[in-house]
Amino acid sequence: MERYKGIKFNVRFIDRTIPNFSQQKDLMRWGRKLSELGCIPIYSDPTDHTRICSAGNLSVRNDDDLIITAAGSNLSKLRENDFVEVIDVDIEATLITVKGMHEPSSETMLHNEIYKKRDDVNVIFHGHNSMILQNADALGLRSTKQHYPYGSVELVRSVLDILDKRNGFFIMKEHGFISLGKTCHEAGHLIINVLKNIK
Ligand SMILES: [Zn+2]
Repeated sequence: MERYKGIKFNVRFIDRTIPNFSQQKDLMRWGRKLSELGCIPIYSDPTDHTRICSAGNLSVRNDDDLIITAAGSNLSKLRENDFVEVIDVDIEATLITVKGMHEPSSETMLHNEIYKKRDDVNVIFHGHNSMILQNADALGLRSTKQHYPYGSVELVRSVLDILDKRNGFFIMKEHGFISLGKTCHEAGHLIINVLKNIK
């Protein structure tokens, strides 16, 4: 997996308040669960080595926008101020407008484009697990064709290319997985089922 070097876009804060949303407890629970399942590897913050972060991001649709975990948050122990409301994403200007205490996940553009393309999706979980990547072909999992750097527009486009309505779980080649659902329960159990099918 590519080494994490921070987010790759500019962030404009319109408000430094913690977003209030109904699925907060569900995301905290699934962050812990996916960490226990080995889907959210731990690393130390490149700018502050005393700080523990975990690689992955969770989001939910929230009316006209989305709420996503903050860049560099520890998904096994999510706190209220680890959630960021994304008000606007301008890919051309690489500018993301948010409400919250911290910068949003490096994959915010990706989550935003998936919600735009799939109106049936309300929840997106992104994680990393080497067993899932190694067994992707054997399990018949759909995958992007080529590896692109995390947080890049090319990565977003490669995912949109394979994002049809039948597809709830897929691989980002040599990187990780994305699981989609109407609910947190649905997106989470897709991951659990894939892990169960690994022999
Ligand atoms: Zn990733």
